Amino acid sequence: MLIVMKQTASEDEIAAVIARIESVGARAHVSQGDEVTLIGAIGDREHVARVEADAMHGVDHVVPILKPYKLASAQVRGGGRSVLEIAGRQVGGPHFAMIAGPCTVESRDQVMETAHAVQLAGASLFRGGAYKPRSSPYSFQGLGQEGLRLLAEAREETGLPIVTELMDARDIEPVLEVADVIQVGARNMQNYALLSEIGRSGKPTLIKRGLSSTLEELLMAAEYILKEGNPNVILCERGIRTFETAYRFTLDITAIPALKEMTHLPVIVDPSHAPGRRSLVPALSMAAAAAGADGIIVEVHPEPEEAICDGPQQLHTDGLEEYVARLEQAAAVAGKVLSSTPA
Ligand code: PEP
Ligand code: MN
Repeated sequence: MLIVMKQTASEDEIAAVIARIESVGARAHVSQGDEVTLIGAIGDREHVARVEADAMHGVDHVVPILKPYKLASAQVRGGGRSVLEIAGRQVGGPHFAMIAGPCTVESRDQVMETAHAVQLAGASLFRGGAYKPRSSPYSFQGLGQEGLRLLAEAREETGLPIVTELMDARDIEPVLEVADVIQVGARNMQNYALLSEIGRSGKPTLIKRGLSSTLEELLMAAEYILKEGNPNVILCERGIRTFETAYRFTLDITAIPALKEMTHLPVIVDPSHAPGRRSLVPALSMAAAAAGADGIIVEVHPEPEEAICDGPQQLHTDGLEEYVARLEQAAAVAGKVLSSTPA
């Protein structure tokens, strides 16, 4: 961190900043220019973060040198990419993961029918929410533990690993029993207590970008999980709020190559929630795959017209094979192969 002093800074003010740096266990490097004095705070990240010189007398501004995230940064792996192993399926590197399933678990028939259909179509993992983050407290909130039980049954029948959302740290035990990957929803991306708890569990985690979050904020959220010793984090772009009202959210395709430069973590895309309608989902899926995403998480339902939530955007189980065939071609453009069978 570089502390730029005001032109008018006194000797005492400079000395106070140096003393502050040394008091938190960092080292000060003073560079006396013709007009201003620059003071570098050198040391490990946790010490330097405690300098907090912005509000001190005589300080003009502070320039951070290090990125605020460390474990998530691309530099930490020297340009290498993380490849996650989830119940024998790989996510990241040359592998393209197709995570598919209903928005929410509604009934045994619906879950089993969807699980079998997506497995046949070549899905790598199965998704389904038992705990649902709904905008209205009056809407269906998910089947909870009964939903988890049905997901476990779907895994037993199809062998597909399960991705399901954890909203409340109080539900972590039953979710850990069933989930192969915990989903952190967009609305919980900055629930730091939940992220730390998940980090301590060690369970692979898919974290969705918040509705109005920057990529740096997404990486800081991932950092909470990584810092607890859990390296198994997947990032997910799912659309952000913009001024556009023709669809629900704007899928930020730029986030895919940009995140690839910023982090070693796998980056996947949810092509369902941004458009909010089925007709747009295939195009966004292909765009994501061709742009180098490590996978997609897409909503699929046997009867979307009857779905309890997100019906308009869910793909029909019928016709999924053709969608997957096109997806494979788009992924191939980016040099990736669908990881549908256990390694
Ligand atoms: C979902 O995946 O069903 C969901 C609610 O997603 P998000 O958190 O991105 O809105
Ligand atoms: Mn949904």
